[in-house]
Amino acid sequence: MSRAFDVVVIGAGPAGYIAAIRAAQHGMSVACIDEWKNRDGKNAFGGTCLNAGCIPSKALLESSELFHRANHEFSKHGISATDVSIDVAKMQKRKETIVRQLTGGVAGLLKAAKVEGLVGHGKLLAERRVEFTPVNGDAEILDARFVILASGSTPIELKIAPFDGERIVDSWGALDFDESPARLGVVGAGVIGLELGSVWSRLGSEVVILEAMQDFLYMADRQIANEAQKQFKKQGLSVHLGASVTSAKVTGNKVVVDYDGPSGSEQLEVDKLVVAVGRRPFTSGLLAEDCGIETDERGFIVVDEECRTGVKNVFAIGDCVRGPMLAHKGSEEGVMAADLIAGQVAELNYNVIPSVIYTAPEIAWVGKTEEEVKASGRAYKTGSFPFAASGRAKAMEQTSGLVKIISAQDDDEILGIHIIGPMAGELISEAVLAMEFKASTEDIQRTIHAHPSLAEAIHEASLAVDNKALNYPNN
Ligand code: FAD
Ligand code: NAD
Repeated sequence: MSRAFDVVVIGAGPAGYIAAIRAAQHGMSVACIDEWKNRDGKNAFGGTCLNAGCIPSKALLESSELFHRANHEFSKHGISATDVSIDVAKMQKRKETIVRQLTGGVAGLLKAAKVEGLVGHGKLLAERRVEFTPVNGDAEILDARFVILASGSTPIELKIAPFDGERIVDSWGALDFDESPARLGVVGAGVIGLELGSVWSRLGSEVVILEAMQDFLYMADRQIANEAQKQFKKQGLSVHLGASVTSAKVTGNKVVVDYDGPSGSEQLEVDKLVVAVGRRPFTSGLLAEDCGIETDERGFIVVDEECRTGVKNVFAIGDCVRGPMLAHKGSEEGVMAADLIAGQVAELNYNVIPSVIYTAPEIAWVGKTEEEVKASGRAYKTGSFPFAASGRAKAMEQTSGLVKIISAQDDDEILGIHIIGPMAGELISEAVLAMEFKASTEDIQRTIHAHPSLAEAIHEASLAVDNKALNYPNN
C-alpha cells in the first residue's frame, strides 16, 4: 500500500524546506524529498543556497574581507598587524563547519515540524502521485493531495568552455579552491563573478573578469553601477566589458581563453577559470512524461502569479520557476504556496524583492532603477546622500558609496531605493518595508533614525528628494 501525505514537496532548498515547514504549521501531513549530495558523499538538506551558494560564499567573503582589512585598513586605526597571513585550509574548514551546522539545522527544523524528510529522488507522476527512490533502496509511490515542486537550478555550462572540475569550474568549484590561484579568470561579471572574484582577489589572486555585455551591472541603476565599477577598479579587479569568450582550453596546468574584445581577438592565460554566466532551472528526472506539467523554452516550469502549475493542486516555486533566482524569493513563494493550500489568502509582491551583491562596498536595491522609471514615462524626483557625509560610516572607515531614492513627482510614492556602501544588504530592509507599505519619501523623512547609524543615510537621501537634506548641501 502506498503512503499518503497531504503535501509532498520535491526539493529541500530554501524554497522547498520552507514550504514544507509552513504546510506542517497548518496541521498537514508533509513529506519533503531531497537528493543533494555533498563532495564528502553525504546527503544534506538546504539545497544550493546552504551547500554551495549563499552561505558558503558569504563565509568566504567575510574571511577574505577581514584579511583585506587587516592588511590595508587596520593601520588607519592605529593597529599594527604585520605578517598577516591567511591559512586557506582553515578558512575552508570554517566555511564547511558553518554549512554543516546550517544544513543539519534544516534537518532538525523539518523533524521538529514533524515533516518527513526523505533522502533520495522524487519524480512527479500523473494524478499527483510521487515516485520516491531512496538513496539505497527501492522506489515507492507516495500519494499526495498537493505537490510542491522546488527542484532549483544548476549552473549554465558553456560548450566552448566545458567544466573539467579541476581548472575550468563552476561556482561550487570556485568556493572550494584549496589555495588562491595566481591568475584567476572569470567568465561573467554578474553576481557570482563579482562576489567570488572579490574573494580570491582579496586573498592574492590576480583576477580578470570577462563580461559579454557593454554595460557593467546592466541590471542595476546606472549611477550605482558606475560607482561600483570605479570602486572595483580601485581594488584591482580587472573587468573587461564587451568581451565574448570564443573558447577556453586546458593546456598543461593553464587555461587558455580566447575572446573577442572591443579591440578584436584577444587571449588570456590563467591558472583557473570560473564560468559564472547564469543558472538554468533544474528539472532533470523530475517530471514523468504524462504528469501534465508544462515547461517553457528555457526549461522553467510554467506557473501563474500564485505559483500554480497547469495541473490541479501542483505548485512550483523557487529557481525552477520564473523570476529572480534568489533564496528569499523562493522561500516567500514557499510560504505563499503552503498558505494557499491551507485555504488562506496569500500573495507575493514581486515588485519589492530586494537584490544584494555582497561585495565591498555592498550593493543593494529594491524597486525600479532611474532608467526604468524614465522609460515608464512617469515624472519623478531623486535624492541621494553619500556615505562620506555619514558619521557612522566615517567611524567605520567605510565612506565609499551612496544612497539614492527615486520617488514619483505627483504623490511622492517611493519607486526605487539603491544603495552602494557599508552594510547595504542590511540597510535595504528599511527600503523594502517602506515600499511594501507604499510609503512616500515624506514618511521616511518623518521617521526617527538612530544616530549615529548608517540608516541615517536613507533618512537624508529621502530629505534630499525635496532638497531638504540637513547634513549635506542640497543641489
Ligand atoms: P535549490 O537551493 O537549488 O534547491 C533545490 C533542491 O532540490 C536541491 O537540494 C536539489 O538537490 C533538490 N532536487 C532537485 N530535483 C530533485 C529531485 N527530482 N528529487 C529530489 N531532490 C531534488 N541567493 C540569494 O538570495 N542570496 C545570496 O547571497 C545568494 N548567493 C549565491 C551564491 C552562489 C555561489 C550561488 C550558486 C547561488 C546564490 N544564490 C543566492 C542563489 C540561491 O542559492 C538560489 O536562488 C536558491 O538556492 C534557490 O532555492 P531553491 O530552493 O529554489 O533551489
Ligand atoms: P548573473 O545572471 O548574475 O550574471 C551572469 C553574467 O554573465 C551576466 O552579466 C551576463 O551578461 C554574463 N554572460 C553571459 N554569457 C556570457 C558569455 N558567454 N561571456 C561572458 N559573459 C557572459 O548569473 P550568475 O552570476 O551566474 O549568478 C546566477 C544566479 O545566482 C543569479 O540569478 C543570481 O541572482 C544568483 N546569485 C545571487 C547572489 C546574491 O543574491 N548575492 C549571489 C550569487 C548568485
